[in-house]
Amino acid sequence: MARDYYGTLGVSKNATPDEIKRAYRKLARQLHPDINPNEEARFKEVTAAYEVLSDPKKRQVVDLGGDPLEPGGGGGGGMRDPFAGFGLGDIMDAFFGAGGGGGRGPRSRVQPGSDALIRLSMTLEECAAGASRELTVDTAILCDRCVGSGCADGSSPVRCDTCGGRGEVQSVQRSFLGQVVTARPCPVCRGLGEVIPDPCQQCAGEGRVRSRRTISVQIPAGVAEGMRVRLAGQGEVGPGGGPAGDLYVEVEEVPHEVFERDGANLHCSVRIPMTTAALGAVLPLQTLDGEEELEIEPGTQPNTELVLTGRGMPRLRSSGRIDGRGDLHVHLEVVTPTKLDARQAELLRELAVSRGEDEPTLAHNGKGGGGLFSRLRSGRSHR
Ligand SMILES: [Zn+2]
Ligand SMILES: [Zn+2]
Repeated sequence: MARDYYGTLGVSKNATPDEIKRAYRKLARQLHPDINPNEEARFKEVTAAYEVLSDPKKRQVVDLGGDPLEPGGGGGGGMRDPFAGFGLGDIMDAFFGAGGGGGRGPRSRVQPGSDALIRLSMTLEECAAGASRELTVDTAILCDRCVGSGCADGSSPVRCDTCGGRGEVQSVQRSFLGQVVTARPCPVCRGLGEVIPDPCQQCAGEGRVRSRRTISVQIPAGVAEGMRVRLAGQGEVGPGGGPAGDLYVEVEEVPHEVFERDGANLHCSVRIPMTTAALGAVLPLQTLDGEEELEIEPGTQPNTELVLTGRGMPRLRSSGRIDGRGDLHVHLEVVTPTKLDARQAELLRELAVSRGEDEPTLAHNGKGGGGLFSRLRSGRSHR
């Protein structure tokens, strides 16, 4: 029966290498024999699980339903070297992230696959509501005929005769310094230590094939330009059927005709006639939520900013939660009439007389807090 290595570390099956490392470090600090002598058995279990899951090759065996710590439990994943226990070095590696044991022996035919990135164009409305999209991805997938082994039905890899399975060949040269031994990757097996005498016809021994497939992706509400959604294990399958990388979908936000975005807040600019600014009105305004009523007070001045609370974008936290919504800021531009006809000019002159404005003078604003330069300095800039 295969052991539950994911369960032992308390991580999910699609945990990233980082998450696995973090989970192990946390447990190792609690269970280390120096700290907790009674938990030695569990510490060994946890360390074994980490050894397996931090090695892409062994992890793949687990994911294929096998157990890399069980002799012969390879399950098609290409396990060659029997697991040799682990000493202090391995534990130090786990803590300090050192990169493995120095390149002895043949390299593995099974390599982890690369990540892939797709840019996805989204309108502001889609960013606000979230969207579900079908994406066509051209990528390497596991060869279904050989399930990654690269071997034709019923055959298996054999030890390379040229290098004797070591993956490298040595040559000895005599020079005036004495004997010089140089090692280079075996040219016959390309350093793998084994050759496939009868390759799978579908993948030519690669263990993976190129394929175009369609996957659906759910983009959460509140995303913005440059944000990435990670689809674990949807990237390329590696050589030899190695575990797939991740697929990242990056949001490309299409600029909106009306709204400009500033984080969760939206800004728009509208023009109203001078008469409306003076008399006041309730006007319809299209927002992300449909038509809303915009109340313009009588006597509204140019450059007034009205705020519709909660009519901005969903506020997406790094935790993935939505934390309320931003506001919609409406900037009012008051338009002075031009091209007056005779009757309109007459009406305005009448108005001026009745307001005592028929012989206007320039009124200085004064140098107080509301002065021009301080207003320019404190004014918010919006392009
Ligand atoms: Zn194949
Ligand atoms: Zn060889």
